[in-house]
Amino acid sequence: MPTPDLLDPKKEHTLVLVKPDGFRRGLTGEILRRIESKGYVLKGLKIKQADRALLEEHYAEHRERPFFQGLIEYMSASPLVAIVVEGDRVIEGVRSLMGTTNPTLAAPGTIRGDLGRDWGTGQVENLVHGSDSTTSAIREIALWFPELEYHAED
Ligand code: UDP
Repeated sequence: MPTPDLLDPKKEHTLVLVKPDGFRRGLTGEILRRIESKGYVLKGLKIKQADRALLEEHYAEHRERPFFQGLIEYMSASPLVAIVVEGDRVIEGVRSLMGTTNPTLAAPGTIRGDLGRDWGTGQVENLVHGSDSTTSAIREIALWFPELEYHAED
């Protein structure tokens, strides 16, 4: 049996963040319920106050975008919950559970569509992050969970 802090490299993993607005609003349980009900397995979970350096690295691809500074402010305003989730096609599956970026436009039935609000502040607060590709997932898990190691099950 693998110990809980080890990841099986043969399985697919993604990084989920319950963003500060989701954690503040007490929606962590609801978001985890949707992920677990789908059959995905939690492999790591922590509450964290993210600093600017971590977030600038996490969102490096958006560095030149006009919303970048606001995004860093939003994500560092209060603690968030970081989670490693495992499952078949979990990267696509979590993206599908999340819904599209803007909560006003996200489909009903999705986390952002059901629970997200447009506060009219110009800053998109959309409750949740999920890695968008295998490359991103591996990079983001290493960034947020450097203590997790990959070990094949025997
Ligand atoms: N974002 C924003 N304004 C935008 C686009 C994105 O504030 O016009 C924020 C939003 O929090 C989003 C994050 O930047 O979740 C990352 O953007 P991306 O396009 O990667 O969206 P996601 O993959 O999270 O749906």
